[in-house]
Amino acid sequence: MSHESEGERPTPGTSKKDRAQRGEFSSSEKDKHRAQKYRLVWEKLDMLKDWLWRGKNQFKAKCTVCDVDLVSEHGVLKIRASRKKHVKAISAILSK
Ligand SMILES: [Zn+2]
Repeated sequence: MSHESEGERPTPGTSKKDRAQRGEFSSSEKDKHRAQKYRLVWEKLDMLKDWLWRGKNQFKAKCTVCDVDLVSEHGVLKIRASRKKHVKAISAILSK
């Protein structure tokens, strides 16, 4: 009697070694981008002061004019500040 092992069929391209390496990559990539914390100074900046508010946690911010949650990163907030829809909404509020 000869026992054939049918359970383990090697799939081309995905060896166990490959998978282990990929796991390493993804964990190091996570470290590359660190989440920024919300800064109270942002609320004093001319560009942000009219609409910026704290989010649900220290890594979140909120646009009170558009009522959207944002990632608390300066770059993200700057982009939001330059959005047409956002600028329009702000000027509508300020002209009241
Ligand atoms: Zn907005």
